[in-house]
Amino acid sequence: MGIMKYAPSALANMFKPPVTTSYPYEPAVYPERSRGHIEIEIDECIGCGLCVRCCPSNTLSVDKIKGTWTIDRFDCIACGYCVEKCPKKCLYMKQGYQEPGADKTPVTYTKSPEQLKKDEEQRKALAAKAAAAKAAAEAKKKAEAEAKSKEE
Ligand code: SF4
Ligand code: SF4
Repeated sequence: MGIMKYAPSALANMFKPPVTTSYPYEPAVYPERSRGHIEIEIDECIGCGLCVRCCPSNTLSVDKIKGTWTIDRFDCIACGYCVEKCPKKCLYMKQGYQEPGADKTPVTYTKSPEQLKKDEEQRKALAAKAAAAKAAAEAKKKAEAEAKSKEE
């Protein structure tokens, strides 16, 4: 009697494709809204550190001078806050998961030598501009002080 209850479903399923997949022999199919893992376009990163400050797992670190961005994937909860906050939009969620590992080792991404050189040039140009502005302000202040002492 019990078997008869499920017979129509069993018969119908014989003519439908399987709902399971043959993973890992076939590539995994991820649901459209699965979060996956964080990736970065490291050359676009400006090292502002917003992602570091907003991460609830405290799993990120950034070194602006060395041009590195580091994540401990074991601690990441894939909440997506860093992606949301990044002003350069260089962080994104990629479907799929990382290879499992035995060690809790953070992964560090480093900018290309070309980008590091560009950043260094930009820093020098900004420093020169700031120094020129400071010198101009000091010269103006000195000239004003001299003019004032002449008036007196
Ligand atoms: S996804 Fe969430 S937990 Fe993972 S690095 Fe970004 S902010 Fe941190
Ligand atoms: S928020 Fe974006 S630009 Fe800023 S340090 Fe993080 S990855 Fe780089």
